[in-house]
Amino acid sequence: MRTILLTAAALGLVFPAVAGDPSGPAEEVRYVMGTLATVRTWADDAVAEARSLAVAFGAFDRVDSLMSTWRDDSALAALNRAPAGMWVAVGAEVCGVLTGALAVAQASDGAFDPTVLPLVELWGFRSEGQAGRPDSTALRACLAQVDFRQVELDTAGGRARLLRPGMAVDLGGIAKGYALDQAAAAMRAAGATGGYLDLGGNILVFGNQPSPCVGVVDPGNRERVLAAIPVQDQSVATSGQYERYLVLDGEAYGHILDPRTGWPIRPGFSVTVLSSSAMLADAMATAAVVLGPRAGWEFLENTAGVEALTLQEPPDAAVRWRTTSGLEPAPEPGAIPR
Ligand code: ADP
Ligand code: MG
Repeated sequence: MRTILLTAAALGLVFPAVAGDPSGPAEEVRYVMGTLATVRTWADDAVAEARSLAVAFGAFDRVDSLMSTWRDDSALAALNRAPAGMWVAVGAEVCGVLTGALAVAQASDGAFDPTVLPLVELWGFRSEGQAGRPDSTALRACLAQVDFRQVELDTAGGRARLLRPGMAVDLGGIAKGYALDQAAAAMRAAGATGGYLDLGGNILVFGNQPSPCVGVVDPGNRERVLAAIPVQDQSVATSGQYERYLVLDGEAYGHILDPRTGWPIRPGFSVTVLSSSAMLADAMATAAVVLGPRAGWEFLENTAGVEALTLQEPPDAAVRWRTTSGLEPAPEPGAIPR
């Protein structure tokens, strides 16, 4: 019998009891990259445990210092400040994440677009004050600045440039995943035999630890698990479950924008992606939410290296969920057939 720890969300993580490990994992919780990070590590001794926690948070801090758009001294901020067409030395890591972001942008036909930052700002999602509907002229002008095809990379030289005035890159939909991959690799190198990392809801687990399950929790009865998928040596990213909404004329909107229309996405559809690459999982989850239930599921189904669970929670309707064909949800107590 499992001990179940449910999140408030319809899509929850379900953990088996931490049993048979009297020493327990070493754990550290810190606020990094604008979100809460929890890292648990299992290792043969306390020294290796402490070392692997330190290198994990070191990786988060490094990625933040390179890719944050909230600080002026990041490589990404330098790129965003530079005049159109000017090459900026951003380094190999930023080039690598940009390469991944542009690949997902291409594959999703621009549903995922790392140049979405001007839109995010226009809607006021980054400001302290009230977010709200921009006027249509401003929206149209802003849409012209959002185009991933206008990003050029010189990977060998570690340089990037933005071809149009007013463009700016936001790696908020992919950098947390990348940071998880980096942190896990550093932990292994530091002697961790198992790890559980949660960076703002993006999860990565590796090695020997009590493997969690990703579960669908009945929104009408949060004690009831409709399906559970075990996660091992994989990462899990969920998009589309917003804690903060923008409310306009009584309608709620989330902080993911559709770069094709310029409008934020309505809640009600969320996606959980499993992949051996946390970076890919993160970006694919964001992309699929923009694409919506039908096209999003097909996109996930047709992408190698990812499996996913999509969930529709339309108002006044039963929750509908679907998995890609490579996922076999394990029956859980209280599970109902699909
Ligand atoms: P979360 O921030 O909740 O983990 P996501 O991984 O889905 O969620 O990323 C959302 C962030 O990605 C937004 O805060 C914004 O910075 C950026 N973003 C918004 N819309 C898009 C988009 N269409 N493509 C790429 N990035 C986006
Ligand atoms: Mg994402």
